Amino acid sequence: MILGAGLSGLLTAYRLKNLGYKVKVLEARDRIGGRIYTLNAALETPVEMGATWFGLKHIHLLKLLKEFGIGYFEQHTKGDAYFEPFSLAPSQKITVPEQMPSYRIAGGSKTLIDIIRSGLGTDDIALGMPVETIKAQSDKVMVISKPSKWEADIVVSTLPPSLLFRSILFSPNISKEVNEIGLSTHTWMQDAIKTAIVYKHAFWREAELSGTLFSNVGPFSEMYDHSNKAFTKFALCGFVNGGYARLSFSERLKKVMGQLEKIFGSEVNNYIDYQECIWNDKWTKYPETPDIFPHQNNGHPIFEKAHFENRLFISGSETAKDFPGYMDGAVQSAERVVADIMRLYPIA
Ligand SMILES: Cc1cc2nc3c(=O)[nH]c(=O)nc-3n(C[C@H](O)[C@H](O)[C@H](O)COP(=O)(O)OP(=O)(O)OC[C@H]3O[C@@H](n4cnc5c(N)ncnc54)[C@H](O)[C@@H]3O)c2cc1C
Repeated sequence: MILGAGLSGLLTAYRLKNLGYKVKVLEARDRIGGRIYTLNAALETPVEMGATWFGLKHIHLLKLLKEFGIGYFEQHTKGDAYFEPFSLAPSQKITVPEQMPSYRIAGGSKTLIDIIRSGLGTDDIALGMPVETIKAQSDKVMVISKPSKWEADIVVSTLPPSLLFRSILFSPNISKEVNEIGLSTHTWMQDAIKTAIVYKHAFWREAELSGTLFSNVGPFSEMYDHSNKAFTKFALCGFVNGGYARLSFSERLKKVMGQLEKIFGSEVNNYIDYQECIWNDKWTKYPETPDIFPHQNNGHPIFEKAHFENRLFISGSETAKDFPGYMDGAVQSAERVVADIMRLYPIA
């Protein structure tokens, strides 16, 4: 039984199923993908509300994309960018020094989720199943979600550890040390607001601008061109400062458009769609979680230890040794747990 239908949970289920294990994924939300969330905005424009970029150093993710024959393309950065240093100073046009390129998945990050999903059966995933309790029994593990009770031989949690140890009751308790480290493991992007604005044409590129914006003022702190690989869908997308979650949707929209108008001119108002996702919801971040330093305890080796006599495994991106918190970490954590299960419970 696998808790969470994000990249880590789905890949774990996919691998185990192909090896001959019976799998069931319990997911609290009414959708799969977790922190990978590509929306189909106006004019079928794919916009990323969650994970978007990766680099050539993300070898676990690259290997998986190759396995599934999924294409990717370089993030567009050609042209001048803008930088807003202070609220009272005008924005500056800058040339960003050449950097290692970052890449995006062709068709959107959801392409990866959809392909993994297609290798699973309809009954392999149960949506709307928020798990509340995990209980060790003699040779089984009982998992209690709000509407149902489940019994499993092995349970793999892919919930971010900070959420797992705040929201799930364990019986018997997990050791104090693991619990404390889990509680103080940062969940990557838990306070982020991702925002995308869709246009009929990429007016910024026509003006030889990259679409990149860095701002110390906000609401957008970082923004990039978000046009698709074929350059037939056009959008801008980036991070709005998490503090703006306190405003209403219409107040935030007004502030975002005000910032962009100041920089790019009135053309920004001719948008055909505006999409945003505020990530501090209860399936990413437990309410009132104190601030945890970015990447604090991420990839801690203690997460590699199994519990309940090797019947409970703790996985998910934040537990990975390399690039914890990223898509690459989600892939690595899934491959680690699958290898552990194969070693401990070989299929005859
Ligand atoms: C705004 C944003 C931008 C990002 N940008 C990037 C990027 O550019 N590049 C990159 O590599 N990574 C990025 N990331 C991080 C990346 O999305 C994650 O590392 C990765 O998707 C994590 O996958 P996971 O399966 O480990 O966890 P998750 O995707 O968080 O999956 C955990 C699942 O558990 C479910 N769940 C929670 N509680 C329960 C419960 N009680 N019972 C059952 N299910 C439950 C959740 O709903 C979720 O589906 C970004 C994330 C966000 C939010």
